[in-house]
Amino acid sequence: MALIVQKYGGTSVGNTDRIKNVARRVAKSRAEGDQIVVVVSAMSGVTDGLIKLAKEITPLPSEREMDMLLATGEQQTIALTAVALHAAGVPAVSLTGAQAGIVTDGVHTKAKIQNITPDEVHRLLDAGNVVIVAGFQGQTEEGQITTLGRGGSDLTAIALAAALKADLCQIYTDVDGVYTADPRLVPSARKLPEISYDEMLELAGAGAKVMQLRSVEFAKKFDVIFEVRSSLNENPGTIVKEETKSMEDVVVRGVSIDKNQAKITVEGVPDQPGRAARIFKALSEAAINVDMIVQNVSHAGGVRVTDISFTVDKPDLLKASKVIEGLKPELAFTSVTTDESIGKLSIVGVGMRSHSGVAARMFETLAHEGVNIGMISTSEIKISVVIDLKDGDRAVKAVHEAFIG
Ligand code: ASP
Ligand code: MG
Repeated sequence: MALIVQKYGGTSVGNTDRIKNVARRVAKSRAEGDQIVVVVSAMSGVTDGLIKLAKEITPLPSEREMDMLLATGEQQTIALTAVALHAAGVPAVSLTGAQAGIVTDGVHTKAKIQNITPDEVHRLLDAGNVVIVAGFQGQTEEGQITTLGRGGSDLTAIALAAALKADLCQIYTDVDGVYTADPRLVPSARKLPEISYDEMLELAGAGAKVMQLRSVEFAKKFDVIFEVRSSLNENPGTIVKEETKSMEDVVVRGVSIDKNQAKITVEGVPDQPGRAARIFKALSEAAINVDMIVQNVSHAGGVRVTDISFTVDKPDLLKASKVIEGLKPELAFTSVTTDESIGKLSIVGVGMRSHSGVAARMFETLAHEGVNIGMISTSEIKISVVIDLKDGDRAVKAVHEAFIG
């Protein structure tokens, strides 16, 4: 008898037919003799709808009350899923995060799990029940309801799988698994049978977001092997696990494009120590995340000056350029320009560690397509370039064709 954690995301429980579908799948797994813990998200759109309601009242609602409000989304789904299982003749009990023993710190709206004491989950499983746990929520030592950040049901599932020492953790979603590229952009994209934690993290950071980043980091830390698969068919999904030697045989596991970034260039910054520090400190104080950074040195009228370019998330662009404009008197730069029509194209693969010439091949492919590269950044297992947004889809196809086929 195996213990399986199955997580169903918002679209997988998006209406009562979908919830009945989940109940059928869970009933089938249970009929095979396994113990099943189900983690569910709020029905799709519910969390966004609740946030919208609060913001109709005030732009900055209390974070404690937001947790109180948002936790109700998942509570609807656990109860409805239990009801659907009962209707299918399967004994099932729903539990809130707190009832399942999930204890978090007190940072409302993005709490971290501190420990899980799943005694009640074990007791109910041993009595023959399917246990349905509300994703995305927990409780502090003092009994305050908390939530784990958007997409946090993934984290609930992974953390519960670790705490229960589950034999299997399945993340059910509306795609068949992790693909070599977005199949809507690249028709020849293939589903990956397996991928390493690090590749999954880099791809998510590069815009190909299948799961909450923190949940993948948690899985890596606690060595939770999991499968990402569809709740709408029986196809096997993608196994996410620690890197194995044979994974290095593949140079590029995936290609992705992030169209949600914008570029800011600060021109004519006097080339002196401390200027860059001042710029990025001001941005970090404004809680703006910076991704790529490039600096060029040139001479203007005999003085050494630099142009500093960097990328931020598109929604932060206005705020970021205001912060920089505010530094003009102090830093004495010439001007600030912004560019919203960029895309960040990335290739990811642990095989890059042991293969050379990968960057050259990527740049040659882009040159052949007539695609100009604006910025470049690399990590051990990722190469990213900033290109014109209008070239984005064509560039993804060409690079996928060059490395994956
Ligand atoms: N309902 C929450 C959200 O929409 C958590 C989740 O879906 O995982 O972010
Ligand atoms: Mg979700």
